[in-house]
Amino acid sequence: MKIVLIGIQGAGKSTQGNLLSQEYNIPYLSSGHIFRQMSKSKTKLGRWLKETLNSGALVPDETTLDIIFEYLDKPEYANGYILDGFPRTLAQAKAFKERNGVDKVVLIDVDDKEALWRISGRVSDREDETLQAIRKRISLFHESTSTVVEYYQDRGILIRVDGEQDVDDVFKDIKKYITK
Ligand code: AMP
Repeated sequence: MKIVLIGIQGAGKSTQGNLLSQEYNIPYLSSGHIFRQMSKSKTKLGRWLKETLNSGALVPDETTLDIIFEYLDKPEYANGYILDGFPRTLAQAKAFKERNGVDKVVLIDVDDKEALWRISGRVSDREDETLQAIRKRISLFHESTSTVVEYYQDRGILIRVDGEQDVDDVFKDIKKYITK
């Protein structure tokens, strides 16, 4: 099963992604996590990624596609995956369709204010979690990732889940869709 989770930062994608991964025994992959790990390297690419992540801007499509596709080529993802944070632009969604593809897409819907409230209330060791970077990520979501939402909606494979419910209820809603 190939699943994509979409939502703004603070929507609960990684929580739900990990729950789904356990329930269905499918590996979970977060593009943000991959980039954060790479940004720790002292290479030119590492430093550039760190700057990009800390600003809240998106990594350009070409670099993103190279890196994520390399991951998806690993044998552990051959039978499926739960993707969090990718695709985030229409170009990424189209390239992804050509190469790997997706069966079901879940949009975890949370209001911007609620997400900001959640993020501000949690302890984080992430250097890229400044208020400015978070705001930028949320605005890029509405600008760019909304086209990805439309793209999957038009294909009839997206459901919108109310992410402001309790974690368990969000999980139930997602499972209902996944097993349908
Ligand atoms: P996230 O943890 O998903 O919020 O991602 C953290 C950061 O990683 C983002 O602000 C971007 O700089 C970068 N990133 C993650 N996924 C993507 C993607 N699909 N396309 C471009 N940049 C990404």
